Amino acid sequence: MTERLYYHDSYLNRFAARIVECGGDGSTVYLDRTAFYPTSGGQPFDLGSISGIAVRDVIDEGGRIAHLLAAPLAPGPVECSIDWTRRFDHMQQHTGQHLLSAVFDELFRLRTVSFHLGAESSTIDLEGGAADARILSAVEARANQIVWENRPVAVTYEEAANAQGLRKAPEREGTLRVVSIDRLDRSACGGTHVRTTGEIGAVALRKVEKVRQTVRVEFLCGGRAIRRARADYESLSRVAQLFSSSLDEAPGVVAAQMEMARAADKARRKLELDLAAYQGKELYQNTAPGADGVRRAVRRATSGTLDELRALAQNFTAQSQAVFLATLANPPSVLLATSADSGVDAGQRLKAALAEAGGRGGGTARMAQGSVPDAAALDKVAAALTA
Ligand SMILES: [Zn+2]
Repeated sequence: MTERLYYHDSYLNRFAARIVECGGDGSTVYLDRTAFYPTSGGQPFDLGSISGIAVRDVIDEGGRIAHLLAAPLAPGPVECSIDWTRRFDHMQQHTGQHLLSAVFDELFRLRTVSFHLGAESSTIDLEGGAADARILSAVEARANQIVWENRPVAVTYEEAANAQGLRKAPEREGTLRVVSIDRLDRSACGGTHVRTTGEIGAVALRKVEKVRQTVRVEFLCGGRAIRRARADYESLSRVAQLFSSSLDEAPGVVAAQMEMARAADKARRKLELDLAAYQGKELYQNTAPGADGVRRAVRRATSGTLDELRALAQNFTAQSQAVFLATLANPPSVLLATSADSGVDAGQRLKAALAEAGGRGGGTARMAQGSVPDAAALDKVAAALTA
């Protein structure tokens, strides 16, 4: 059994111990006592070093705790040091989770069913209903109020059979480690916590999403809340600067600009259609009819899209006895449009030509489109359709 020093003092970040056993090639070590927290209960493992060798992972094996090192060590006495910045951050997020879970429960009967402490942000999953903006705002305000009251966070050991008033029924029997926030919460937990709510620092609730039957609430505490607020401020400042507005006015200004852009886009599309109608008519007038009286126009484009030529094709073939063929070099593709009185079924005609050239596509009797594998095939299709 490894003695878990973090159970009794979560602020211990330097300690002496003995390597009592080594596993594998010697880079997995077991200590007689450790303050390294292993991944469990939603809280990630600690980093740090043992005799100057970096700790890569800490695993709870039940009775013992395995420390995975960057290099092997031999049994004997060692000096250990924990990455305190990382650990204290975890303590802020984890104690913040106890606080938030208790407040969600107290105010709205929303019960926490799981907790995840991530590298950037943390989440709790709640069940018992939806969590709208009003609920989030009330919970955030109440949680921060309790932070300012700087209430003690205490650890006691109690028998499961006698433990009263736990937020969640204990999952095991025997002695429980109970973490309490004064006059708010009692939870069985083996994690590391700060000693007063003031050390949690600012509590910020963020994104909410529905995940199956639960509501997932993202939150940030302490240093993370401050860093996020700084990053948010910088992003919003850049947006405001682009629109020459103040931060508070930025959303309204962006919405107004987007509305203007949409209107301009609509006007541009209308002008494009008007222009295509004009160009279609002009092209028709400038195209001499063949011996059979059908006017045939061919456009061979190297760049752009076939969609850009569709309006022209439609307007050309809106007039009598007209056939319009367009090819695009890249990607190799073809468009065929015909007027109803041209005697040509665009879909059938194009499909037949494409089949010969190893291409694919189709369409209606009036308008068809397809693609071919390469330039040679495109020439073959164009030749077949203009023959
Ligand atoms: Zn805890």
